[in-house]
Amino acid sequence: MRSAYKFRLYPTKDQIKKLGDTLETCRQLYNDALAAKKEAWEDDRYNLTYYEMAHQLSANRKKNQALGAVYAHVLQDVLRRVDKAFQNFFRRVKNGEKPGYPRFKGRGWYKSFTYPDAGIGYKIEGSKLILSGIGAIRIFKHREIEGKIKTCTIKRDSTGAWYAIFSVDTGEEPPRVEPRTAVGVDVGLKHAVTLSTGETFSYPRYLVQMEKKLAAAQRRLSRKIKGSKNWIKQKLKVARIHRKIRNLRDEFLHQISKKIVDKADLIVFENLNIKGMVKNHNLAKHIMDHSWGRLIQYTTYKAARVGKSVELVDSRYTSQRCSGCGIIVPKTLKDRVHECPRCGLRLDRDLNAALNILTLGLRGRACGDTG
Ligand SMILES: [Zn+2]
Repeated sequence: MRSAYKFRLYPTKDQIKKLGDTLETCRQLYNDALAAKKEAWEDDRYNLTYYEMAHQLSANRKKNQALGAVYAHVLQDVLRRVDKAFQNFFRRVKNGEKPGYPRFKGRGWYKSFTYPDAGIGYKIEGSKLILSGIGAIRIFKHREIEGKIKTCTIKRDSTGAWYAIFSVDTGEEPPRVEPRTAVGVDVGLKHAVTLSTGETFSYPRYLVQMEKKLAAAQRRLSRKIKGSKNWIKQKLKVARIHRKIRNLRDEFLHQISKKIVDKADLIVFENLNIKGMVKNHNLAKHIMDHSWGRLIQYTTYKAARVGKSVELVDSRYTSQRCSGCGIIVPKTLKDRVHECPRCGLRLDRDLNAALNILTLGLRGRACGDTG
């Protein structure tokens, strides 16, 4: 099993220069290799192999100072990227598609480089990430890495912030346990998430505030003249808020997915159709709807690590149906309480939905204790 960890880097001025130079050298190598492959193909219908390019590269490294300054494996990874771009291109041609030719990367369009081999060329020591050819960079490791690190990718985002992304081998997936407990998960109106146990998780207040701040910054951006100095400044501001929100939201989703996995052996989510969703003005709800896919994704891989299962069920009628007797009890978004005229069941609408989701997930399964 593979998973990835992304951590923010805090390079010094000198290191930022080296990181930037490395990206630039990689970009140029990418374009050179692309040109060489293109030429070989157009002139001779010859597909230049990775090994031929790598052989040429090691000769060039002796002559070219910029190439010589970058760690060899990092450069080889650039060639592999070119190779892959062509493989994808040819595969799509074979399938009868009309793909665009692999593209040259302009300045600013080459954003990352990779140390491709496990533990070779990079090392984490305390709060430092030591990169061959660059130095010891301060790293903010907000989570412990579980598993064996395979590759390390260094990336610059649109605001100029640097990140290290570690691809990790978490070992063999453990065998699935026969579920004995189950829980239904509903994306709620009042709370971000409601479980069939009655527990709820609310979308953090500070995140809602940040989203409001983002909306205001975007409005300000739209009033500026595109391409002007102020526009560029504002655009950077928007990107910064975006990044902060993304990170905080991810952190929140990691926290609740962990809590959900701890709850039961079988976790049932409703499979929301985001496109078909009614636009609504409850900001927190809106955000949660759009984080739903990621929450399912995080829960699924956390569950797989411990042999637990995630199931998706059809989301139609989960809020309308009575979880007690099964009849449809129509509700609008305003109705916060489910009240059944037939069986008399009365409970929070989100809890009612979570119970329906649980029931759908248990269909055809024999689970013992359900919550
Ligand atoms: Zn009922």
